[in-house]
Formats: sequence, structure tokens, C-alpha cells
Amino acid sequence: MLGEGIVKGLFETARNFLGSYVDKDRLVTVQYPEERHPLPEAARNFPFLLYDGDDPEAGLRCVSCHICEKECPPRCIYIEKSTDKKPDFVGKPQFYPARFDIDVSVCMSCQICVEVCPFDAIRMDKEFELSTDDRFGGLMWTKKELSKPNEYYQKIHPVEAAETDARRAEDVEKAKAKAAAAAAAKAAEVAKAAEAARADDEGAGKEPSKG
Ligand code: SF4
Ligand code: SF4
Repeated sequence: MLGEGIVKGLFETARNFLGSYVDKDRLVTVQYPEERHPLPEAARNFPFLLYDGDDPEAGLRCVSCHICEKECPPRCIYIEKSTDKKPDFVGKPQFYPARFDIDVSVCMSCQICVEVCPFDAIRMDKEFELSTDDRFGGLMWTKKELSKPNEYYQKIHPVEAAETDARRAEDVEKAKAKAAAAAAAKAAEVAKAAEAARADDEGAGKEPSKG
């Protein structure tokens, strides 16, 4: 029937309008900004950098590998690598970004930087109230503005963050096991060398070496 869709649409609108007086679920709008719809887990806006612990400099996960900078389609990430290194979460010395800026006036929220980062160092934020009257400087976010703690990530993306945390905890355990195995191998090597030296001394009729 001609116009059937319009009639159905008007009926649905009327049903929601009248129903909203008795059923809160039929209210499709809220009194923003006093009221807000909770954002879904997968909501995303612009990227931010993650750090562990309380110190954004010491705990920053980014190792300045430049992968995200190269893969970003509109090329709105600007990184300068440090000249020195700092230990990462498993104690391995790594470079860090002396400069890490994102021009969010250009960023298209594609999340490619997140997908390609091998270090779980960059994630998508949900913050959307970002209006500014500074078209250029105000939208070029620096490392300081981009850095947020892991607790923040756990709050805005709890499921994703739990997966990342579990994987990183596994990596820490693997690194500890590797370090313990290396220490045991070194100790065995030293003991073997000492034993060989003792055998040589005994063969030569000398006083056995100590240690
Ligand atoms: S979300 Fe996309 S456009 Fe924005 S910084 Fe990341 S890769 Fe670039
Ligand atoms: S955010 Fe990730 S991909 Fe980008 S430079 Fe840092 S470690 Fe590399």
C-alpha cells in the first residue's frame, strides 16, 4: 500500500511518545549534559597513550618504534625517538618517545594505530567533549596530554583492558622464567668450570682450587 511505511513510522513514533510517560525505556533522549547515555565498550574517538604505575614518563609503554606513525593513513602522528633507553615492563631497555604528538583535527578515528602497535601502548579514548577555540594548537595533542594510566583504560574499556593485562602478566612471568633459567645455566657453567679446575689441580698433584 502506498504510504504504508510512513503510517508505520508515525505509529511507532506515537507509541514511543505516549509510552514514554509510563515506560522510561521508551525515552530515546536524555537531558544532556546533566544526563548521559552510557557509552558501549567499543565506543571510540581519538587515541591516547598508556602508562603503567604513577609516573607517565617512567611507565609510558611506547617504545618509539614508529610503526603507528608510518601506518596512520592521514599521517597525523609525529614521533621523535629518545637518545637514551629506559626499562620496559619486563625490565628490557627500550627507547621511548621524546616527542609524541597527534593532530586530532586530522585524525579520522580509524584505530589503525592501535591495531598495529605491538606494545599495547596506544588505545582509543571515549572522550568526546573536546571543543576548543584554538583550531591548531588546541588540537595538536602532546605526549603529556595523550598519556593516561592503565586504570583509566580499565575503566573505559574493561573487557579489552582485562585481556591486555592478562597477556602482559603472562609476558612478565615468561620473562621471569627466562631470567631464572639463564641464571641457573650461568651458575651451572660456573660450577662446571670450578669442577674442571679442581680436577686439573688434582691431576697435576696440586692443592685443589677453592670455589
Ligand atoms: S586513529 Fe587512525 S587516523 Fe587517528 S591517529 Fe590512529 S591511525 Fe591515525
Ligand atoms: S604507540 Fe606503539 S606503534 Fe606507536 S611508536 Fe609507540 S610502541 Fe610503536
